[in-house]
Amino acid sequence: MTTDHGYPAVRMYIAGEWCQGETGRTDPVVNPATEEIIGAVPLATPADLDRALTAAAEGFEVWRATPIARRTALLHAAADLLSERAEDVGRIMTLEQGKPLAEATGEARRVADTLRWHADDARRAYGRIIPSAPGTLLSVRRDPIGPVAAFVPWNFPAGGPMRKISSALSAGCSIVIKASEETPATAAALVACFADAGIPAGVLNLVFGEPAEVSAHLIASPVIRLVAFTGSVPVGKLLAAKSGEVMKPSLMELGGHAPVVVCADADPVKAARKAAQAKFFNAGQVCTSPSRFLVHESLVEAFTEEFVRAAEAVVTGDGLAEGTTMGPLANERRLKAVERLVADAVARGAKVLTGGERPDRAGYFYAPTVLTDVPADAEVMREEPFGPIAPIVPFGDLDEALAVANELPYGLAAYGFTESAATAEKLVGALEAGILSLNHCGGSVHEAPSGGVKDSGYGREGGPEALEAYLVTKRVSHLLA
Ligand code: NAD
Repeated sequence: MTTDHGYPAVRMYIAGEWCQGETGRTDPVVNPATEEIIGAVPLATPADLDRALTAAAEGFEVWRATPIARRTALLHAAADLLSERAEDVGRIMTLEQGKPLAEATGEARRVADTLRWHADDARRAYGRIIPSAPGTLLSVRRDPIGPVAAFVPWNFPAGGPMRKISSALSAGCSIVIKASEETPATAAALVACFADAGIPAGVLNLVFGEPAEVSAHLIASPVIRLVAFTGSVPVGKLLAAKSGEVMKPSLMELGGHAPVVVCADADPVKAARKAAQAKFFNAGQVCTSPSRFLVHESLVEAFTEEFVRAAEAVVTGDGLAEGTTMGPLANERRLKAVERLVADAVARGAKVLTGGERPDRAGYFYAPTVLTDVPADAEVMREEPFGPIAPIVPFGDLDEALAVANELPYGLAAYGFTESAATAEKLVGALEAGILSLNHCGGSVHEAPSGGVKDSGYGREGGPEALEAYLVTKRVSHLLA
């Protein structure tokens, strides 16, 4: 069933059934490109959450006992359905999140591959046998940790949920996932692929609700064995503390404020093109988005000129419209935050070279913005911008630039541009980040780990490391005689 806007009716998925919340309470879903209400998201009550917890406990027993070949086959079947449905999922994503249709469809296709990769990788989650005394078998086993509670945001409506779901299910865990209330239909479309592929009831449960109520309820439940969160640093700290109170491990994928260090020997034009392309991807609403551009003073003019050209070439518009390369911000909160950051920088003396305003149209649009003369104490240099703002700051001495790059409590992504192998190694050693890209602004890939240091969180998603949080290590020593 869809509305006039082509947006589907959204349901939760609990114990193998699509359902409304017990009370029928909903929140509106808004298209950020038009500000129109396009649908409604059901909100779970504590009783709904209890049903999801019971289902996850039962689902875990079924799933862990399912032969791995069967589990892998079911996950591949879900991935194949998602690949077939990628265009429909992409359209839903654009309606509720705003990103250009090609990006949205690409995201849906990519996460189908993420699922395949993790499903296959879990087949190699080997333990080991350790040389020991005669008659004793000393081994290390890796078991699924148990039911997982996961919380994911709205910037990658398919990528966020799939990272958690693919790791949990591949490891043999069940999951209760609360996806964003702002992008619920993409998450439901993903879950439908698993349901239609025949995943046993209770293995995968999807809920929506008041975020603080849902997380407090799920984290406190003895059923839940792992808490996995992607989102802002303050909420991550809150959920990590709540998990600690009940001695549960957590996986925290939090925000960043990625420095881009353009060294004196780099090509400023190439660096500017690559950095600008990454900056305006998803309207800057990416935890690894480059967001502080530290450029050697000898290159800053050429870099800035090319960056402004690239910013002005961005076609901002409705993600469904042909030719759009950047959609609106995903919600009004982001628009207000971006307006506040630019106003603060300007009040402190920054110059706006391009952008700096919202276009005169409905929707949460904000023009790609380039700032120079930004003082170090401007909020945009300290607070994650999560929007299409690029502050460019010259430096004279590389060590000073590295000190600026590392001075914030964040440590997620960092970028460096240099033609020198020695300088590249210096950047690798010095930059405090869990993800480093040199001479390009690489995005995440399912075969390699992503994650942060410092306030940006702990644990890794992607690559073989992704399974670590979802498995527990058991030492078994067996006296045979
Ligand atoms: P927010 O801090 O209110 O929420 C971030 C996410 O956490 C949302 O999905 C929200 O539903 C969820 N959330 C909030 N309180 C929660 C709770 N008590 N329990 C469980 N989940 C909870 O911010 P926002 O306005 O949605 O996003 C703005 C900021 O969040 C950005 O500036 C950015 O720093 C950060 N963010 C980071 C990522 C990321 O990929 N790491 C994604 C989205 C947002």
